[in-house]
Amino acid sequence: MKFSTALLAAAVGTASAFVPAHIQSKAQSTALFGAVRSLDRLTGRSQLDPVVVDRYNAIPYPKDLILAEYVWVDADGKCRSKTRTLPAKKGEAVELLPKWNFDGSSTGQAPGDDSEVILKPQRIFKDPFRLRHDGIDNILVMCDCYTPGGEPLPSNHRAKAMKFFGPNEDQEIWFGLEQEFTLFNLDEKTPLGWPEGGMPSRPQGPYYCSAGPENNFGRSITDSHYKACLYAGINISGVNGEVMPGQQEYQVGPCVGIDAGDQLMMSRYILQRVCEDYQVYCTLHPKPIVQGDWNGAGMHTNVSTKSMREEGGLEEIKKAIYKLGAKHADHIAVYGEDNELRLTGKHETASIDKFSYGVANRGASVRIGRDTEAEGKGYFEDRRPSSNADPYIVTGKIMETIMSDIDAPVIAPLDKEQA
Ligand code: ADP
Ligand code: MN
Ligand code: MN
Ligand code: MN
Repeated sequence: MKFSTALLAAAVGTASAFVPAHIQSKAQSTALFGAVRSLDRLTGRSQLDPVVVDRYNAIPYPKDLILAEYVWVDADGKCRSKTRTLPAKKGEAVELLPKWNFDGSSTGQAPGDDSEVILKPQRIFKDPFRLRHDGIDNILVMCDCYTPGGEPLPSNHRAKAMKFFGPNEDQEIWFGLEQEFTLFNLDEKTPLGWPEGGMPSRPQGPYYCSAGPENNFGRSITDSHYKACLYAGINISGVNGEVMPGQQEYQVGPCVGIDAGDQLMMSRYILQRVCEDYQVYCTLHPKPIVQGDWNGAGMHTNVSTKSMREEGGLEEIKKAIYKLGAKHADHIAVYGEDNELRLTGKHETASIDKFSYGVANRGASVRIGRDTEAEGKGYFEDRRPSSNADPYIVTGKIMETIMSDIDAPVIAPLDKEQA
């Protein structure tokens, strides 16, 4: 389609009226393409016309007010959120933030005839999406859910985990959570980098920690999420491309106690928001592609108590592992839905039915790193939790088991050669 000179002048003229001088040349070059550009099927990148975006970004926020995005976990373990305007002073400490409520009948968290659910602010993060430039931050607020009578909802696993973390603060337990996730086109069927209705022509091998357009699909999302999380105040320790094409990973931690759950939940919320911007579908399903030889997705959970990090810590680690072995079925029961599709004993997993541990063994339920063995202290990795597991449940359950006073039989390590 051809534009007349008059039309072109009109379009550019309209843009100029709204856009600051420094971006006018970019505005002129994009003004004719319409507000939304098409989606790139491999990278998932879609672009709003910068003229439109910048017009609103340029509006300043009132200095004495902040926008607070209250985030909570719904009955399916997904994050929901809504926003309220608050005096800026209230955002300075979580204790100053007011409770709020939502319609629980719309999220499957309360009956229609008594639908109010109370949101209790627990942890503040900086909002990386509604950026402002006046030295103040809008905020994201991790909340948990209560009945009007003050009872935690059944979906409030944070409150349950606090029962184990609260009395054991002297243990200084650290968690490092590895969150794997899989990116799809908006059809929710075609992973990034896959041909529609088919499979990649090359098997797994080149994609893990990869570079190059033929290997790494979705890096821009991982990187945008990484930066947004760091800005928010989330302790992301790293990222990498994963084994299945279209799959990626980030790690949160080490975080102390309940903060691991708060940080990971908020990082998942931020991931959903980033994927919304990129118009890419993200799933935390542990086995998004069941047919064929493709890895699943997990939430490996790295754990250490103060005594495990000190001299003689390896003995403490082994004692904890024996307890985990004695309670294997109880842990599997809460380590995520559809995890049986993933824990097959293939694709760097251990079988769901049998507990095992080993040094540097990625085919075991629990792995002790080479460094930890060599130094005689450090941490261990529980490889069983699935990518969709609730981090409050997983960390709380591990805390419960390793603090319990059970008589757990010694388990022989599974060497790599035997795996
Ligand atoms: P992997 O080799 O299994 O892929 P990653 O490097 O992806 O491991 O993740 C390891 C995680 O463990 C990181 O988040 C890291 O911060 C965390 N971690 C490191 N030291 C400890 C520790 N002492 N206790 C708990 N977590 C730890
Ligand atoms: Mn990892
Ligand atoms: Mn991984
Ligand atoms: Mn791992």
